[in-house]
Amino acid sequence: MDDSFPPQSVARFSRQLNFFLDIEESASAASALLRRIMECKIALIGVGAVGSWILKELVQIGFQRFVLVDPKQLTPADRVRNALFDHNLLGKPKVTVAAQYINSQAIDPETHIQQRPLDLDTDVEALIGPDVDLIINTADEPYIGATSIKLSRYCIKKDLPLLVAGGFDAHLGSLSELIVPGRTPCSDCYAIYFEKALQDWKPISHPVADRRRGFGGLPSMTTFAASAAVLKIVRLYSEKGGDVEKGRGEFLFDNYHIDSFKVERNSDCPTCGDSKTLQPHEN
Ligand SMILES: [Zn+2]
Repeated sequence: MDDSFPPQSVARFSRQLNFFLDIEESASAASALLRRIMECKIALIGVGAVGSWILKELVQIGFQRFVLVDPKQLTPADRVRNALFDHNLLGKPKVTVAAQYINSQAIDPETHIQQRPLDLDTDVEALIGPDVDLIINTADEPYIGATSIKLSRYCIKKDLPLLVAGGFDAHLGSLSELIVPGRTPCSDCYAIYFEKALQDWKPISHPVADRRRGFGGLPSMTTFAASAAVLKIVRLYSEKGGDVEKGRGEFLFDNYHIDSFKVERNSDCPTCGDSKTLQPHEN
């Protein structure tokens, strides 16, 4: 670790830097990765079941600059779902609870809170500000596909990476999807791909018995999805930018099976296709 890190960072991150040597080739590159992590500004959309666990792991790793977006308050049902649950904070906005957590754990925290939903007509830049480096989407209302397409279109224009995690129907075993403009499919590419791939698909009986009461899940499911997402983010910030996988994976909790779909960028995609990526900052 180089001498410019605050002394409290050295002891705190020593074992993590040792792990970073598995993905970087030198101690100085591992330190540089930690520095990029500490400087990266993330907009986290949704501080619910999956979003709260992602946040907790990111802060433990050293991420400390966040824009937090969520309209809801902490409820008793969050005890089994939310990483940041505290009985004394019941009724408080989730974004406030999350900001308190970051401020109590990070070395040099920066938090901005927005107790608002991401609606389909929301001005994304007005919501998260103009200077974030990465967006993480876990907002599943009205549903994750709709909020992701909206954010993906924004990210293609701004040349920003987007990570989509959680919110996948009854199971929370999504391995997450990292969208990097110019390198991976965007949410529109995925929509085009799956519309075709699933045209002959017949619905199977659903693993959740009573869906009228909401989908639900166990903490072990949400931490699984969150950890998969966080590892992708760490690799994205490594010196070589990681091997960003093109495709979607889901771990099915009812039968312990992983479904994996390899999806390539669609050169005719109306959002990120070849005619579009030449003007990534067009508004
Ligand atoms: Zn696309």
